[in-house]
Amino acid sequence: MCTPSGVWGTILKDEGLIKKLLRGSVVFRSLKFRIFIIVLLVGIIPSSVLRALLIRSYESRAVNQRITDITNQCNILCGRLFEAGFLDDTKDELINDELSLLSNLYDGRVLIIDDDFRIIKDTYDMSVGRTMVSKEVIACLNGSSNMNRYDPEYGYVEVTVPVTDGKGAIHGAMVASGSTDYIKTNRVNLNHRAWIVEITVGIFVLVIAYALSSTLLLPFDRVRTAISSAKEGYISELKRVEVPDYTETGEIMDAFYLLLDQIREADEAREEFVANVSHELKTPLASMKVLSDSIRNEENVPVEMYREFMNDIAEEVDRENQIITDLLEIVKLEKQTDRLVTEPTDLDDILNEIIKMLEPLAGKKGIGLTYEKLKSVTAEVDRQKLSRALMNIVENAIKYNKDFGWVKITLDHDIQFAIITISDGGIGIPQDVVGRIFDRFYRADKSHSNEIGGNGLGLAISRSTILLHKGSVKVTSIEGEGSTFTVKIPLVYEK
Ligand code: ADP
Repeated sequence: MCTPSGVWGTILKDEGLIKKLLRGSVVFRSLKFRIFIIVLLVGIIPSSVLRALLIRSYESRAVNQRITDITNQCNILCGRLFEAGFLDDTKDELINDELSLLSNLYDGRVLIIDDDFRIIKDTYDMSVGRTMVSKEVIACLNGSSNMNRYDPEYGYVEVTVPVTDGKGAIHGAMVASGSTDYIKTNRVNLNHRAWIVEITVGIFVLVIAYALSSTLLLPFDRVRTAISSAKEGYISELKRVEVPDYTETGEIMDAFYLLLDQIREADEAREEFVANVSHELKTPLASMKVLSDSIRNEENVPVEMYREFMNDIAEEVDRENQIITDLLEIVKLEKQTDRLVTEPTDLDDILNEIIKMLEPLAGKKGIGLTYEKLKSVTAEVDRQKLSRALMNIVENAIKYNKDFGWVKITLDHDIQFAIITISDGGIGIPQDVVGRIFDRFYRADKSHSNEIGGNGLGLAISRSTILLHKGSVKVTSIEGEGSTFTVKIPLVYEK
């Protein structure tokens, strides 16, 4: 078997080299280059194969034709040869002339062999009297027909036909060879012309390959330009560029603008968040400033008033502190730097603890807080974090309730999730803002916000925590009638 040697051998032995070349080189990785090569190969390989097939088919047809011609001539001569008794006496001039003519006509040699394998006639007059025991002659004398041979190396065909009497009995053999040099010459000429055609086709294909690889990829250049301009310009002012030339370019641009929209939204959300944070942090500071100024500007302020104002200032400090703590918690939850510490936990325990802690608050407003465990549920949760998240929701159900209202909590599960519902018959949430209550700093009922307290971060923390557990939280609400929060937590936490 042929094995690669030399430089190519070394290159092929290093299996990774070609892959490395393909991956490493900018040219090899270029789609333009690949299209160019594909078109080139598709154009050139068929014409090369065609050339080889054409030449081979010409050669085999020409050789067969030559063999048929010589065989026909030999068959005619063999019949006459026997009739003339040439096998016994080779002096017949007419036959000798015809044999010479045959050998000249095909630029070859004719041998007549009797049934003792002895050469009785040689048009070259070199081997008369010798014995010829070739495979073809033996087969021919034994009755086989079509004993032909083609030798492309020396450029001749050899035909062996039997010399028979009128009844078909074999008495000798005629071996005639004919030159096939003209076939070789024709083949070379044909090959030469085929090469010219192939080179012309090759140049043509080269030009087409170059043109195609350049034009086919033009839309992708436009895609690249559009994306680059987005990189350089202001995202908010960017105009949409369509590249509908191909389905693929259209899809890339759609995906790109979708991503851009998301970036815009994220940008706007970030700006809004910064504005909200500044506003929320400034409010307690402004109150503290007013309180402290009013004491500073007053002469002979009584100690009680000092105490009262200092208490108010301390409350504002607490408020500010709470906002900052909540904000830091949200940031940690959303960045997921704060990993969950999960363990199989009886959710009944968590809910009972929450109820115990919030009962005094509910009691102040005469709210009936009920809890129903439909099924026992143990789930893999971060006890502390989930407890805080659920507590926010239950606390809201009490805060945003009517005096002597009701709050009901249930615990259940399906195959995959623990299901906790917190329903209340409270003030409800207007339909148009119900989707926003999980946003940071969002408060639906601004008019009562101050007296109820809170900073609008509670539900944002709850949702982030639940999402971190790979769960979900949904709310349905009717303004004036109450709300229902449904929390689903996977029973098994998959990291
Ligand atoms: P807050 O600190 O204001 O309570 P939250 O993030 O906990 O902040 O809640 C956001 C807003 O959603 C609240 O200000 C309130 O308007 C509304 N909300 C939350 N829970 C309820 C509820 N059970 N009933 C009515 N409104 C609610």
